[in-house]
Amino acid sequence: MSKKFLRVAYEKYDVAVIGGCAAGMAAAINAKRRNPKLNIAIIEKLPRLGKKILATGNGRCNLTNLNAKCSDYKNSDFVLHALVAYGPDRVIGFFESMGLLTYNDSEGRVYPRSNMAASVLDALRFEVENLGIDVVCDTPVENVKKTDGGFILNGNIKCRKLLIATGGKASPSQGSDGSGYALASSLGHTVTKLYPSLVPLTVNGNVKSLKGVRARNVTLTLTNGKTVKTTSGELLFTENGISGIAAMELASKVGELLDDVKCKPFTEVDFLPDFSEKELVDYLLNIRKIKGNCPVDVLFTGVLPWAIGVEICKAMKLYKQDRLISSLSNTDVVQVAKKAKKYELEISGAKGFANAQVTSGGVSVSEINPETMESKLCKGLYFAGEIIDVDAGCGGFNLQWAFASGLLAGENIW
Ligand SMILES: Cc1cc2nc3c(=O)[nH]c(=O)nc-3n(C[C@H](O)[C@H](O)[C@H](O)COP(=O)(O)OP(=O)(O)OC[C@H]3O[C@@H](n4cnc5c(N)ncnc54)[C@H](O)[C@@H]3O)c2cc1C
Repeated sequence: MSKKFLRVAYEKYDVAVIGGCAAGMAAAINAKRRNPKLNIAIIEKLPRLGKKILATGNGRCNLTNLNAKCSDYKNSDFVLHALVAYGPDRVIGFFESMGLLTYNDSEGRVYPRSNMAASVLDALRFEVENLGIDVVCDTPVENVKKTDGGFILNGNIKCRKLLIATGGKASPSQGSDGSGYALASSLGHTVTKLYPSLVPLTVNGNVKSLKGVRARNVTLTLTNGKTVKTTSGELLFTENGISGIAAMELASKVGELLDDVKCKPFTEVDFLPDFSEKELVDYLLNIRKIKGNCPVDVLFTGVLPWAIGVEICKAMKLYKQDRLISSLSNTDVVQVAKKAKKYELEISGAKGFANAQVTSGGVSVSEINPETMESKLCKGLYFAGEIIDVDAGCGGFNLQWAFASGLLAGENIW
């Protein structure tokens, strides 16, 4: 048994926070700032706090989004209180209070001014240290028991109040291995079905020729006969599927659709959503006029990557080496324009939790008080962050939720 472990064996805390990343640290800091006398511990299974923060935003940490609103989230009604109490401005203010300045891009995504995720983690962990919050690392919490006076973790860490902020199942190499769900269940909570979200998709059919090709600003519509979800943004073709923000944001819905064996999910790609079909036909007719003696494979190069244009022509059987654009009939042009606006890919799956950024699903929101983050089933138990059945798309929304729900729980846990 490690020295650290022996030390906590005899310690009794007012508040124990299981999980030392975005939600857990925000909660512990807010709780301690408001009630400096509280004896608080963060119990973290990894050797250091906040490993996942370092990986966020491609190492830049997109820590919130100025435009975040309830409708961006699953279970939007539940999110309301946390978002009103700790919206993007207050999250930015929280970081400013620790000396961390930020900037935002044109889509409202907020990053640290240093452009380094490490700065976000440093701000949090130094504040944890400054406030005298106990940090107990290398300690996975494997079980929790409710007692008359509070809780006992792993049979030897006692606390009066408990916050579970263990994240979901996505990206387990950063600590979030889903073990928090078992802890929540053991205290009587329901965990909804879990799906990997913000993860690349795999497709039936060969997309190898497009591997590595990116299309900027496409629209994807997930269908199973009827429209299920529409996303927009960048699309990136991979060895056996599609990635990029527009594809990854469909992932959790793909998981749900594939659970239903009767339906086959497709995604319709609109490669040129800023053109109406008529505008695209007119554009292509003009290309036929000005580039008629060029090969068909450059028909789309004025608006799309070459390889995508070729695939669109191939799909309409209009591609032949040495065929000239001038040989396309008006009907061919209309057909090819339709294809560019509705290019179908059959989806075979979503990559798993190991590659996912977020978990969709979690502790049922019906069992948590949205005004305090306290369990409705177990007094003194609180939740924050991704472990709850709340998730959103790319753009800083998930960290916004982790910080807002953490700060709210911290305000109320004393
Ligand atoms: C690669 C990647 C990039 C991302 N980029 C962004 C981004 O730029 N913007 C954005 O908004 N979101 C981003 N996300 C999502 C975001 O990081 C998460 O939604 C957020 O970190 C969730 O915070 P959390 O504190 O609830 O959980 P987590 O950050 O997952 O932290 C949970 C912590 O609990 C610990 N833990 C788990 N189980 C136990 C246990 N049994 N005992 C003790 N400790 C335990 C873990 O080790 C971990 O430190 C990204 C995710 C990934 C994987």
